[in-house]
Amino acid sequence: MSEQEFDVVVIGAGPAGYPAAIRAAQNGLKTACIDDWKNYDGTRAFGGTCLNAGCIPSKALLESSELVHRASTEFAKHGIEVGSVSVDLAKMQARKAGIVKQLTGGIAALLKSNGVTALQGRGRLLGENRVELVDAAGVVQTLRAKSIVIATGSVPIELPIAPFDGERIVDSWGALEFEQVPARLGIIGAGVIGLELGSVWKRLGAEVVMLEALDALLPMADAQISQEAARSFKRQGLDIRLGARLTAAERNGDSVKLRYELGGEEQALDVDKLIVCVGRRPFTSELLADGLELHLDERGFVVVDEHCRTNLPGVWAVGDVVRGPMLAHKGTEEGVMVADLIADKFAEVNYDVIPSVIYTAPEIAWVGKTEAQLSDEGVAYKVGSFSFAANGRAKGMEQTEGFVKLISAVEDDELLGVHIIGPVAGELIAEAVLAMEFSASSEDLQRTVHAHPTLSEALHEAALAADKRAIHAINR
Ligand code: FAD
Ligand code: NAD
Repeated sequence: MSEQEFDVVVIGAGPAGYPAAIRAAQNGLKTACIDDWKNYDGTRAFGGTCLNAGCIPSKALLESSELVHRASTEFAKHGIEVGSVSVDLAKMQARKAGIVKQLTGGIAALLKSNGVTALQGRGRLLGENRVELVDAAGVVQTLRAKSIVIATGSVPIELPIAPFDGERIVDSWGALEFEQVPARLGIIGAGVIGLELGSVWKRLGAEVVMLEALDALLPMADAQISQEAARSFKRQGLDIRLGARLTAAERNGDSVKLRYELGGEEQALDVDKLIVCVGRRPFTSELLADGLELHLDERGFVVVDEHCRTNLPGVWAVGDVVRGPMLAHKGTEEGVMVADLIADKFAEVNYDVIPSVIYTAPEIAWVGKTEAQLSDEGVAYKVGSFSFAANGRAKGMEQTEGFVKLISAVEDDELLGVHIIGPVAGELIAEAVLAMEFSASSEDLQRTVHAHPTLSEALHEAALAADKRAIHAINR
């Protein structure tokens, strides 16, 4: 059995692992990155869930389907007559696959150009600075490294009551690959994936029913934003049934028969496809050699400190496999931090300022604390809001739904949270993230010149409104 020596071995080449490997190599460390991703067609690719089956393909389909929706409902308002809009789903899917292929190929090229040894196969932590690699041909080798970074990501949670069959009952990856628009689509879980993929297939013509166990939609978002989102999704025809408890999901020929309890009553629903998206769990299957005492918490996450150190010397863990939000950018920053710490450089992640974005229409984005969190913490705060209905650019774009809500401290005016529902909220939030990273106040935003006419003026006005000085709204 061959043995190779490295300074750093990264297991997993998703958005947490590959940046860790690239930064480690940039720091002059001899680095290998192992990845075991296999596509449905058996091909292998770097980039993990995010590039192959998550962020990137979902956003490609969200964009295409949003264009369909806008062409059908909005173009006429601009005086553009397109007649009836038809969809070539195969072409839409091929565009998505092309984007994924380009980007995953780009990761392979980046690893190579940075001098990272990119290896495809399964990694297993053996202890004593060793990793076993079993490649696609079954060849086994051992890699030795002073530092090992676990970046093995997460996988969908499967409900025993509705196991994935890859055909009618699918996970989020399966739901990105439909070759036909299902006439009746059921979704279990109205979280981020349910709302994004529900939007895609609804816009393409499916009748969508979502069964959500909780009584509240998007409880992690600011309550005003969640309420506005719920109203908007209802208007779009997304049928979200809160407080629904699934009791059975049975294949019945070409459909799935669902039974669920709602308000104490037994209900039934027949769907052609069922997406189960009830969260994801950390992925550490077959990762650890017998007897290796890597600490995992009760939910299977690798236990790490604020610098992503595990309990084993020289072993680090980043991304979805550790605590914190399961977001690509959070994993990336952890990967880069760890690679710098290994090289004895200063590095940290500011976990208080991680943006969240939900790519529905309107888009939803926030950073920092919600009003409810601040109330619970007993922090005195002030709120400024501004509606996109009063924003010239939004009007020109025919995208006036939603608002910006900014929260700052009464004591010193520091920004504590910014919450946006509206057009390109995911882009707009970047200004708030930067402001909060620099501990800016709402006055700092008030005194910053914002180009006119832009959507960003809504953030400017919300900052002004926090001190009852908005120019384009009535200050209450
Ligand atoms: P992963 O991306 O899961 O990568 C882990 C990699 O490690 C995989 O390639 C896996 O095959 C490999 N691996 C695992 N075990 C081994 C082993 N033993 N040996 C070798 N290789 C191994 N997040 C966002 O921020 N924005 C979004 O818009 C967004 N959209 C999403 C949409 C969907 C449908 C889904 C499912 C997720 C989405 N996410 C989004 C979440 C995002 O994809 C994850 O947070 C991110 O991919 C986590 O990165 P990671 O590197 O930790 O893990
Ligand atoms: P999620 O946690 O966002 O939502 C899961 C939902 O399913 C929750 O609302 C939960 O209450 C509900 N649920 C759980 N069990 C249920 C049951 N038995 N019946 C009915 N409902 C049930 O998880 P997700 O949507 O699967 O997404 C997984 C992860 O991927 C998330 O952590 C998210 O951060 C990440 N992601 C991010 C983005 C983005 O950043 N835009 C997009 C997609 C996914």
